[in-house]
Amino acid sequence: MNDSGENKNINSAVEENYRKYINPTLARLFKFGGYNGVEWEASGSYVTMHDGRRFLDMAGGYGVFSAGHCHPAIVKAVKDQIERMPLSAKVFMNKPAGDLARALAEITPGDLQFSFFCNSGTEAVEGALKLARLATGKHEIIAAKNSFHGKTMGSLSASGRDLFKEPFMPLIPGVKHVLFGDADALESEINEDTAAVILEPVQGEGGINVPPDDYLPEVREICSRNNVLFIADEVQTGLGRTGKKFAVEHWGVSPDIMTLGKALGGGVMPVAAFMGTPAVWKVFEKHPLIHTSTFGGGPAACAAGVAYIKVMIEEKLPEQADKTGGYMMEKLDEMRGRHPDVIEAVRGKGLMIGVELTDVGLGGAMIMEMAKNGLIGVYTLNQPKVIRFEPPLNIKKEDVDWALEIFEKAVTETRNLLLK
Ligand code: PLP
Repeated sequence: MNDSGENKNINSAVEENYRKYINPTLARLFKFGGYNGVEWEASGSYVTMHDGRRFLDMAGGYGVFSAGHCHPAIVKAVKDQIERMPLSAKVFMNKPAGDLARALAEITPGDLQFSFFCNSGTEAVEGALKLARLATGKHEIIAAKNSFHGKTMGSLSASGRDLFKEPFMPLIPGVKHVLFGDADALESEINEDTAAVILEPVQGEGGINVPPDDYLPEVREICSRNNVLFIADEVQTGLGRTGKKFAVEHWGVSPDIMTLGKALGGGVMPVAAFMGTPAVWKVFEKHPLIHTSTFGGGPAACAAGVAYIKVMIEEKLPEQADKTGGYMMEKLDEMRGRHPDVIEAVRGKGLMIGVELTDVGLGGAMIMEMAKNGLIGVYTLNQPKVIRFEPPLNIKKEDVDWALEIFEKAVTETRNLLLK
């Protein structure tokens, strides 16, 4: 580790800026979580700090770095576009936006065909909710308890954790929450005002919850029968993460509206989208400018999306996620057998894996232990009892083995610290 005066200066200068000008408590949280210091560069599955320390990124930016950090083909595509024209003049059409919309139409399930580009997952969800109201003329939304759809007003209204919502009440009216995985509960909330059902196919921030196999097909059938739109929020699950290009494909289901984000920018640019079928998109014929975004659909951002999709297909990222995820889950389950007092359950799909601990107090200590040994791990936002692994989909086997070794060490250390 390079511990020169210069590093110390940079670390303390950045920390002071965070403390004074961003968020003092957040700065403390980073430090107590074991993530002290300044990230400087990244490549593949590794992040290198300004002082030279390296971390294996098993959190993958919560699902952003599906192709790894700084994938050369994606960086090149973005660099080329940035040098030519990074942002749109907004009065002409741009080629990367058209290319990305077409590529998405070609790989998404069912009749999904049209895309609206924006800059973050929560914006994609806002757009999806607005589109559902516009296309149906109805206003109620059914969402799942424990869900996470983002933190702007509409997405927050659909999200299922009160902690994030209560300070902002009243949120948008007419959003009901039902138990995730229970199709009957969902159907019983449908009435003549219901515009749409919004669900994550696998709940991410809620603690990596995989629904029963018949759930999403039943939800699809219920929505069709009741003339209600089905919105699949694939911001976290989409584009290879769960071992398929889109998580709904595990259950042969296609939504009317789909949201995407995180991995869509290839780990290089912020890009998100909501997509719809021709039937729902008809409303934009009458109102082409009813929903707009200054930066959404910018050429550099869309070039990143096009490059990511090419990489995802050429490098078979969903297949890699399936194989590596299966291996990891098997090893973690064996670990659960060795440490039943610390690990309660292991679940997930592909490389979206949650390890549920026996006590909510264990997560923080474990993450600190992992960080101390050079492993980035995080818990899920709505469920701090669950440590989640969402590494790059092309992570090498030797890195997975090392991560498992460090994780088991953290399990043992945490038990010695807190349970003995
Ligand atoms: N939807 C889902 C399923 C998510 O997991 C997230 C973020 O974690 C969002 C929406 C919000 O995305 P963003 O943080 O980019 O606004």
